[in-house]
Amino acid sequence: MFTHSGDDSAIVVGAGLGGLAAAMRLGAKGWRVTVLDRLDRPGGRGSSVVRGGHRFDLGPTIVTMPDVFRELWEATGRVFDDDVDLRPMDPFYEIRWPDGARFRACSDTEHMVEEVRRLSPQDIRGYLRFLTGAEKRYEVGFKRLGRVPMHDIRETLKVLPAFARLRADRSILGHARAHVKDERLRMALSFHPLFIGGDPARVTSIYALVSHLEKEFGVHYAMGGVQAIADAMVRVIEAQGGQVRLGVTVDEIGVEGGRVTGVRCGNEHVSAPLVVSNADAGHTYSSLVKGRKRRWSPAKLNRQRWSMGLFVWYFGTKGTRQKWQDVGHHTIINGPRYEGLLRDIFRRGVLAEDMSLYLHRPSVTDPGVAPEGDDTFYALSPVPHLGWNSVDWTVERERYRAKVAKVLDQHIPGFEAHVSASHILTPLDFESRYLSPHGCGFSIEPRILQSAWFRPHNISEEAKGLYLVGAGTHPGAGLPGVISSAEVLGQLVPDAPQHDIRLAAE
Ligand SMILES: Cc1cc2nc3c(=O)[nH]c(=O)nc-3n(C[C@H](O)[C@H](O)[C@H](O)COP(=O)(O)OP(=O)(O)OC[C@H]3O[C@@H](n4cnc5c(N)ncnc54)[C@H](O)[C@@H]3O)c2cc1C
Repeated sequence: MFTHSGDDSAIVVGAGLGGLAAAMRLGAKGWRVTVLDRLDRPGGRGSSVVRGGHRFDLGPTIVTMPDVFRELWEATGRVFDDDVDLRPMDPFYEIRWPDGARFRACSDTEHMVEEVRRLSPQDIRGYLRFLTGAEKRYEVGFKRLGRVPMHDIRETLKVLPAFARLRADRSILGHARAHVKDERLRMALSFHPLFIGGDPARVTSIYALVSHLEKEFGVHYAMGGVQAIADAMVRVIEAQGGQVRLGVTVDEIGVEGGRVTGVRCGNEHVSAPLVVSNADAGHTYSSLVKGRKRRWSPAKLNRQRWSMGLFVWYFGTKGTRQKWQDVGHHTIINGPRYEGLLRDIFRRGVLAEDMSLYLHRPSVTDPGVAPEGDDTFYALSPVPHLGWNSVDWTVERERYRAKVAKVLDQHIPGFEAHVSASHILTPLDFESRYLSPHGCGFSIEPRILQSAWFRPHNISEEAKGLYLVGAGTHPGAGLPGVISSAEVLGQLVPDAPQHDIRLAAE
């Protein structure tokens, strides 16, 4: 099955975006890389399935910070924009509330001020102060913290004074409350951590940085979906001489005498002096690395707070492309409660009767996503993860889908009569498809005491030669996060043995 095996061979477990980026970074350092993934497509949560002529992008839809991709490509001597067609979104997204109010986010400050004025004229000054603070948080939270290794606690301690000044102890919702009075605006300024699995009432206000990076770097869509980015990454890896093997489950990361020896897939052991795990950090330490752990014991993993689960209904509708003209590419549909719903999902672990939805309609931008004249959608609802043991998804699956449909019908009236393709993922599927602990959507929740040094390190303390990338590691979930985790890896891993000599010979 494997062709590379030598002192310059490296194995990456998992072809999620973090794993593929790691392989590119290692390839650029001369390692001969083999990526192994159990799925039939690369991309992990960013992969897609095709049903009835509809391409359903299963996970990420919003690409922020395209420069992290550009820099990754640059490290391999290539140009990202030659390989991937990114389109800027305008507006970025629309937020809707049950009272009929709408808020369209975009990069233009004047337009945004007008949006704020429509909701709450008294909050304009507070909104502008929030934006200024968001930029400061970006400087510290992303530039100084997100792109550098954090396994040495001194690195985390260095940013503490800035964190104290920026009131990192305050939640992002608390931070929004301190700036604006309107409840709807508080939601619009604080919901972003939900896209990386964090409870806005509990994760640090440093995440206000997302409002800055959206405005500064835009919100983009990759034509062909994030799958197109993953496929392009595979092409780069192969051009570097690496390989990506799909349909292969890794059962164990071998460790002997405190050093990594390779991986075991079924009965086959493949030797490599360097292994990078892009499998969830929880799965890596609970299942792949056997034996006693120095840091990530089962008890410690159990004590972590995990991100929420997701219920996602992917559906195609026939002949509807010209209908529902006011529904754009990205719509966030609020239910009657914001804080109460967050409490139910994250702290009480119960499946609420009401819900908030994110509605994705890529057919607005990307005609290739559906047969001509048809539409492709997904509706995502945050729900408790499986660790709460509160929902039997084998029973709830269809009942919950019907409830989602009822909410959607207020925005895309009569859509159910047009549904021609359907696919559902519940937390049970996240558990079985991605081997995600508790079936959660985004690994360990990005709370302040589960971030930076406190998160599983990119260089493992459990075995020499073992590294981790992806959502459960530093800096965290989301495409910019997992691509940055591979950038951090690139700073930690040495060049492959003989790399200089081989380069000179070429
Ligand atoms: C529905 C949804 C919507 C999202 N929307 C956005 C968005 O709009 N923008 C954004 O930036 N982020 C978004 N995210 C978050 C983002 O998609 C993820 O944080 C990111 O893709 C995770 O990447 P990763 O590298 O951690 O790996 P994953 O995508 O989790 O991939 C890990 C891979 O490892 C494989 N694997 C695991 N164990 C093994 C094993 N033992 N053997 C072999 N293979 C194994 C799995 O099959 C999987 O392919 C979204 C996530 C979801 C689920």
